[in-house]
Amino acid sequence: MTNKNETLFARAQKTTPGGVNSPVRAFRSVGGTPRFITRAEGAYFWDAEDQRYIDYIGSWGPAIVGHAHPDVVQAVQEAAARGLSFGAPTEGEVLMAEEICHIVPGVEQIRLVSSGTEATMSALRLARGATKRDKIIKFEGCYHGHADSLLVKAGSGLLTFGNPTSAGVPEDFSKHTLVLDYNNSQQLEDVFQSIGDQIACIIVEPVAGNMNLIRATPEFLQTMRRLCTAHGSVLIFDEVMCGFRVGLQGAQALFGIQADLVCMGKVIGGGLPVAAFGGRADLMAHMAPLGGVYQAGTLSGNPVAVAAGMTTLKIIQQPGFYEQLTAQTRKLADGLTAAGQQAGFDFCADAVGGMFGLYFAAQIPDSYAAMMATDKDKFNRFFHLMLDAGVYLAPSAFEAGFVSIAHDDAIIETTIAAAKQAFSKL
Ligand code: PMP
Repeated sequence: MTNKNETLFARAQKTTPGGVNSPVRAFRSVGGTPRFITRAEGAYFWDAEDQRYIDYIGSWGPAIVGHAHPDVVQAVQEAAARGLSFGAPTEGEVLMAEEICHIVPGVEQIRLVSSGTEATMSALRLARGATKRDKIIKFEGCYHGHADSLLVKAGSGLLTFGNPTSAGVPEDFSKHTLVLDYNNSQQLEDVFQSIGDQIACIIVEPVAGNMNLIRATPEFLQTMRRLCTAHGSVLIFDEVMCGFRVGLQGAQALFGIQADLVCMGKVIGGGLPVAAFGGRADLMAHMAPLGGVYQAGTLSGNPVAVAAGMTTLKIIQQPGFYEQLTAQTRKLADGLTAAGQQAGFDFCADAVGGMFGLYFAAQIPDSYAAMMATDKDKFNRFFHLMLDAGVYLAPSAFEAGFVSIAHDDAIIETTIAAAKQAFSKL
């Protein structure tokens, strides 16, 4: 009998490079056939074979209220019936901007865009335009979307500017990007001491979710805040993933540190394409049409997407939402840790709000190097054992996982039971 996922994957590869529209979906890292999803509800989705999975990627973050939440679906249907896109402003965008400025610390103004990549790319341009400086700092292992100047890895020395991680990125672009080690405050001090007056901005994932899950130390974030203030550089928190995820007010509230600009995405679109960047009003005043930093979008602030986002923002503000999400995610992480360790593996898990990380390592990694030293082969086998048991984890040892409010006790317990079985076969 032909497996419908395999058939679809074979067809997809004829018309789409690698058969997917975003690389991690191809299962290249873990091997095997990607599942083609037909529908989703709550904490579950179903593939082309009608096999049900407990979903721990949640569309890589957006599905925080569970898939196909009835209120979100209704809001989308009602908005769609009023027209899909106008290319002129709407009240929905005003309400959404007001809501986000109300929730997110220090965000006085925002601009809506359609993807996290646009948000970070535009925030960088704004930081450069406002400071009239070219150089930027990012950290190895943080992902900020696929803008040219951010697809850069570390050069050979501390003050050497980076090398492109993608073909097609001219060195002339990457040469303005300095790539430093996450959680290494001394490096930041050294770099600012020598070229601080040339740095337009630091961009950082304050809870990193693109090298599995790694928490920034408070001291690391405090150091960058202090250095940016002292040298007139812009501090950009890329909260596309951790915003509205580690807590309602994101990493800024978690650490008690205010950025100058914040990038948002994922949750604020509730599964439709909405992202945003925002922050200090004096910085945002540099944006066109007021100022000289250009940025635009045909579908920016799209009314259907904004309806999904606004409804999601309402649901996550219901009393107890983050307490429950955090408790469920912690239960999952602790249960998996116990299962792995009881089976005798060097294994642990961590959770921050509704994000989690799984590590085949004796200790929770706190740096990119420690993360790269985790046992990728064991993860890959564990991934497939869990998949066979109906649990869909991120298909890579270096991606974080996501829990939704629909992941109830029974679902978490089923997952931990599946993990016990998986560890026994590993
Ligand atoms: N920043 C971070 C922290 C992200 O996790 C992502 C996407 N995973 C992006 C930016 C890019 O967002 P998008 O995929 O919507 O372009």
